[in-house]
Amino acid sequence: MNHLPEDFVFSQSSLQDYVDCPRRFQLKYLLRQRYPAPEVDDLLEFERRMAQGERFHHLLHQHAVGLPADVLQAGISDDEVRGWFDTYLANGLNGVPERRYPEYSLTVPLGDYRLLAKFDLLALGDDKALIIDWKTSRHVPRRDRLQARLQTVVYRYVLAKGGTALNGGNPIPPEQIEMRYWYADHDGQEVAFNYDAAQFKADADYLEGLVREIEDRERFPLTDDMARCAYCTYRSLCERGKYAGSLDEWEQIDEPTDLDDLDFDFDQIAEIAF
Ligand code: SF4
Repeated sequence: MNHLPEDFVFSQSSLQDYVDCPRRFQLKYLLRQRYPAPEVDDLLEFERRMAQGERFHHLLHQHAVGLPADVLQAGISDDEVRGWFDTYLANGLNGVPERRYPEYSLTVPLGDYRLLAKFDLLALGDDKALIIDWKTSRHVPRRDRLQARLQTVVYRYVLAKGGTALNGGNPIPPEQIEMRYWYADHDGQEVAFNYDAAQFKADADYLEGLVREIEDRERFPLTDDMARCAYCTYRSLCERGKYAGSLDEWEQIDEPTDLDDLDFDFDQIAEIAF
């Protein structure tokens, strides 16, 4: 049984939702159920941190398109954001190739659908294609958890499959691709992942398998991992608890919904013709 609209666009977020909890994927993307509850207990602080993350990303975009750093610094009123921006100026662009595409989106085919990746920054050199994801999280996840996240899988895969238009008509060899997470709140600590042809093939099999599984599903079961429900907006709907989890604890776990990635701008999608 196929429940997906013909024009469905997968993303790292929707696939992560599916892997975390098939029911959440169904509620959010197939039934488009409105959120009946907040994700965390301290909603004001949650929104403040989201706004800080957005401000920081906007600053980096403005800097990448040529606005002078001192002009941008003068306009920052939030001390934390100013500190993050200073850290970025100090080391955020170390070793980053010169041909840069900030906030760049690509889609590629995935089964009968499309798969979207929205990169904070793509930077291309002669033999390097670097994907940077700027993070403002208070906690740096364990490397193995980050490696397994759909963001790491999807971003590298999409660039290897769809980067032809950025590379003079030639595919970007997987071996040239690096995905780098950069943590503003940790003095610019980096967690980086290389790529190769074998991983690209494994990722293709994995992602296509997920889509086939979603298409064939009769039911979308609730996750067995009840800990996920504490931070899920559907917990009352699913009868998995009335109260939101603690924001402070949420930031300490390795797999939170990422504040930096909550906002997708579908207007900026660059369609790649195949
Ligand atoms: S509350 Fe739990 S079971 Fe329900 S959608 Fe959220 S994660 Fe899944």
